[in-house]
Amino acid sequence: MSSLFLSRLSDEDRQQLIQSLHLAQKCNCFICEQPIDLVVQKNVIDIDHVVPLKVGGKDDPVNLALTHASCNRSKQASNLEVARILSRFLQLKENLAAKNSSPNLGHLLVQAGGGNHSLGFSLIDNTLSYSFSELGDNTVRTLPIYVDELSGFRYFFAKLPIQYLAHDAHINPRSIGSNISKLVDEFFNKRPQLHVPLGWISSKDNRSAIHVFDGQHKAAAQIMLGAKSLPVRVFIDPDPDTLITTNTNAGTTLKQVAFDKSVQRHLGNTLYQERLQRYRIATGRKDDDLNFSERDLINHFKGQAREIKRYILDSVRTGVTSDPDNKLISFIDMSGRGTDHPLSYSTVEKTFYSFFIYQEVLETPIDYQMEEGENPREVERSQIVALMNLIAESLYIDKFDDSVGTDKIENKLRKGETFSHGHLRAYRLSKEEIIYNWLQYMGQIARQYFIMQGNPDPKDKLFQCRFPEPVWENMRRFLKSLGELPVWVNTELSESVFGGKQNNNFWKTIFETGKTPQGMQVLVKPINLIDMIK
Ligand SMILES: [Zn+2]
Repeated sequence: MSSLFLSRLSDEDRQQLIQSLHLAQKCNCFICEQPIDLVVQKNVIDIDHVVPLKVGGKDDPVNLALTHASCNRSKQASNLEVARILSRFLQLKENLAAKNSSPNLGHLLVQAGGGNHSLGFSLIDNTLSYSFSELGDNTVRTLPIYVDELSGFRYFFAKLPIQYLAHDAHINPRSIGSNISKLVDEFFNKRPQLHVPLGWISSKDNRSAIHVFDGQHKAAAQIMLGAKSLPVRVFIDPDPDTLITTNTNAGTTLKQVAFDKSVQRHLGNTLYQERLQRYRIATGRKDDDLNFSERDLINHFKGQAREIKRYILDSVRTGVTSDPDNKLISFIDMSGRGTDHPLSYSTVEKTFYSFFIYQEVLETPIDYQMEEGENPREVERSQIVALMNLIAESLYIDKFDDSVGTDKIENKLRKGETFSHGHLRAYRLSKEEIIYNWLQYMGQIARQYFIMQGNPDPKDKLFQCRFPEPVWENMRRFLKSLGELPVWVNTELSESVFGGKQNNNFWKTIFETGKTPQGMQVLVKPINLIDMIK
């Protein structure tokens, strides 16, 4: 920001420049578009080049803009127009996060004034006729229809206004990550789009939105930069099951796309719903009939037992992960690459989901005791959510600070940086090898209660048995005692015990003996369940 022009201005001229930029920008910051108060924020205002000097921007008032100093410092692109576009995206992301949701193409279409019309068309022989009448353009255009040689799917290519595009969250449940900024930068630098997004239409009623199910990041980046229409390859009446399977395979067996685990689970859930429907059709049942068991499904789809089982479990996992009341979700990093959140989705799968979801198929009807509110899969799902909420309230909420994050915490401790005890405790308790061990006590607490009451051991179906209040109370007390152990905030242990990644057994030994396998004393005494819930 070393501007010769600015450095030569007198104080008075500088104030005048600020006034005129402020007026030209309607009193708003160029990046975040929120008001700038020239009195209150007098000392925290920046003047910067819209187009940076190093890429040919002019050192001249026409290329200058007024910003909050903090916005300018934290901007995500050196070009201020791009920085503003990314700031809008961040804003959208934050608004959606408050609703436990995250941005997808659909949200960006709406933000850009699109996603609001369906396309009227006719299909005669191998020709598609259509017009953009909703936009006041009544020209009837025609396009050739092609047939995909191997799949037999019919499709056409078209350049379509964003008003007719829609996001298909069913086939493509992924959201848009912060890596969108790189794509925005690419397109801003006038690099063309290499792959065309894919969509589909239904020919029923001769009207359909263009449901885009692939290429949403590229589409989104261009829309953010102001593109008003995009080229799309559009399938006509494709079999959705085939598209979902293709999309799932792209992320799993084919490894074409770096799919997040949580997204795979979501797709598994979608496939489960499809199989339920197929089973109903094959056995002549009504649309909402669930009076058959998970076992019946396995028996029906011969040769697909492993897949069906995976889809069933995926649907339970997705039920827990996407429950809007789940308070632990905002502490889980869904893509597994970030450093904002203490838990990764993969850790949640290896602990919560692997310990507490019954891993075999049920013989009872899928809607068994649904009306009484005692359906086993539903009880399981809601109790896992309740446990996650209890843990969130005991150890995370108002304690772990996202803006501090998890990046190199132990390193920073060694260098003398300090963290709040709540933050450090939540971070350490979230390490996979540690939560893997303490979370198992939650199961033990519930199980012991059932046995002490003279009930049969629920074993693997533990979470399908409704816990009475004393179980929750004991869990709450355990979490309190666990959090109070000094080890979680002992900074001297950052080099040894918390220094590198340990295996699960390392912490099992510490919990069971108070010492590391090498004999170093970490806890005053071994963890005793009875003491912990006193
Ligand atoms: Zn600002």
